[in-house]
Amino acid sequence: MTNRLVLVGPPGAGKGTQAARLSEELGIPHISTGDLFRAHIAQETELGRQVKEYLDSGQLVPDEVTNAMVRERLASPETAEGFLLDGFPRNVGQAEELAKMLSEADQELDAVVELKVDEEELVQRLLARGRNDDTEDVIRRRQQVYRDETAPLLEYYADRLVTIDGQGDIAEVTARVLDALKQRS
Ligand code: AMP
Repeated sequence: MTNRLVLVGPPGAGKGTQAARLSEELGIPHISTGDLFRAHIAQETELGRQVKEYLDSGQLVPDEVTNAMVRERLASPETAEGFLLDGFPRNVGQAEELAKMLSEADQELDAVVELKVDEEELVQRLLARGRNDDTEDVIRRRQQVYRDETAPLLEYYADRLVTIDGQGDIAEVTARVLDALKQRS
């Protein structure tokens, strides 16, 4: 079964929700760069202070900072048998760096799961969620960043991309992803 996975999708597509469920089902750690950054901010660490402005304004944290944090996380033994990355990579530079990190350990990504959701539904979901970077301006900025920087990853990962309809019942979406992954292995 495939176990080195990346979850991609626009803000509001349900990445966090699905990543938590998939990580449980597949027995692999869920690594969310957004959650890691938010934990640093909450704990007022030096890294937290460095990244707060980027999260508040919906811009990407510089690659150097993000890549170093992921590299450290992937070096931990609990990711040796697999992992589910949620929110990383966010641009082609990060994807190239990830490929490098994995190849140093003779590994590569098994699949990249794209969650697809209509634009209108996305805005409704985000406004309902109410996280503190979920104001309308910041949502719009994050969507723009997704279109400009993250969407090119879909082409970059074309050879291992698994596109899933992210609309409808939460459990149903999880089942779709698991089915699609099973068919590939
Ligand atoms: P998320 O929880 O994935 O929606 O991420 C929330 C915010 O964290 C983003 O708007 C960025 O400011 C920052 N962030 C999360 N992941 C990354 C990443 N891979 N590269 C740069 N910034 C990130």
